[in-house]
Amino acid sequence: MARKPKTPRTSEFDVIIIGGGMVGATIATGLGKAGIRCALVEKNPPDLNPGDDISLRVSAITLASQRILTHVGAWPMIEHMRAKPFTEMQVWDQEGFGAIHFDCADVGEPVMGHIIENNIIVAGLWKTLPTCADITTYCPAEVENIERDDEKMRVTLSNSVVLNADLLIGAEGANSIVRDFAGIELKVSDYQQSAIAANIKPEQWHRDTAWQRFTPTGPIAFLPITDELCSIVWSNDTARAEEIMALDDDEFCKQLYAAFDGRLGLLELVSERAAFPLIKRHAVEYVQPGLALAGDAAHTVHPLAGQGVNLGLADAAVLIEELVRARAARRPLGDLAVLRRYQRRRKGDNLLMQNAMSAFKHLFGSTLPPVSLARSLGMGLTNHLPPAKNLINRYAMGLEGDLANMAKPPVS
Ligand SMILES: Cc1cc2nc3c(=O)[nH]c(=O)nc-3n(C[C@H](O)[C@H](O)[C@H](O)COP(=O)(O)OP(=O)(O)OC[C@H]3O[C@@H](n4cnc5c(N)ncnc54)[C@H](O)[C@@H]3O)c2cc1C
Repeated sequence: MARKPKTPRTSEFDVIIIGGGMVGATIATGLGKAGIRCALVEKNPPDLNPGDDISLRVSAITLASQRILTHVGAWPMIEHMRAKPFTEMQVWDQEGFGAIHFDCADVGEPVMGHIIENNIIVAGLWKTLPTCADITTYCPAEVENIERDDEKMRVTLSNSVVLNADLLIGAEGANSIVRDFAGIELKVSDYQQSAIAANIKPEQWHRDTAWQRFTPTGPIAFLPITDELCSIVWSNDTARAEEIMALDDDEFCKQLYAAFDGRLGLLELVSERAAFPLIKRHAVEYVQPGLALAGDAAHTVHPLAGQGVNLGLADAAVLIEELVRARAARRPLGDLAVLRRYQRRRKGDNLLMQNAMSAFKHLFGSTLPPVSLARSLGMGLTNHLPPAKNLINRYAMGLEGDLANMAKPPVS
């Protein structure tokens, strides 16, 4: 007997979000809280109870990002699990005499930001999702097909479930299938560096300070992740990073100690090590009718200033704001004019940060005496010029730029 063809189960939404990482889950909770019906599609089930083991993937979360995560309701959960505040930042240059010191007190804030494991941020967001009646999660789920059908976007999952919506958001990271479906051009440039991440127990207390030393082969950051431990991000030219990854643990710690100038005494490796190739990417367009990209799907930057996910969360906040505004004005959420407002507000800031990171990488990669003298003088001058220093500090803390309302400090 011939089998009846399976009838696909079709569900209607306002928005479909592909990718439930830090950016996608933030967009879902923000829209869900505003009564916008979302489907959130994620291929890997997140670990909702990350436990005591400190993950290697961490982010320096700015005050603006903290406000966004608070607005969507996830911050208390994240803070309860594990979030290490830091109050100061020390930056110095191996080649010259330049150094700069930032203190949250200089801009009247209680902290500069928090160092948080990415899986804890994701867990906090996913624990918040059930508080929004308007979100349906599909996880684990694979996307089989994406189509544009008249005014609607249609996503077919590998289990034959069909999702229809006015708007499709690609928040599934650097290898975005939504971006590929839309044929959006991507500008790519290989930094020819890899970032080595590991957890380290230094002999001396980290003083709740984020430390960064620039070396000719790349920057090295020590970020406080617990009272005793630092998460390190050691960027190096690719060949050098491969050599470092091949070292045994003792030799790795010795070379790390030398590269870090012995600032926190002897170092003990307390985790595995992992290396991440660093690639700059920028989508030429973030939007098309019925389609938008956010976070790493739209742009990736060098991690030297810890801005990647902060830019992604800023995208999320502006996109939520524009879509909620469109809904209040009874405009279709996939309307290109609505989406273009999002692109206009975010693309310039993201490009600026990306170019600044590339300039830093080249400037600090040079050992030519005039360049090293100029940057030493520049750092020294900035350190003694409070207005300039405070402005840089405010940018690094996410307090400047075209912020969404939810990212701004409360008006007192
Ligand atoms: C070494 C290193 C250090 C960094 N440090 C910092 C820092 O200090 N501060 C900072 O702000 N940023 C930092 N970053 C950058 C930051 O990690 C990224 O910007 C951030 O992870 C991007 O978040 P996202 O949600 O856009 O994408 P992702 O984190 O990549 O999440 C994408 C999600 O989509 C899912 N997915 C992917 N494809 C599909 C699919 N086809 N279908 C369904 N789901 C899918 C994935 O499983 C994942 O859950 C660092 C990056 C590196 C490499």
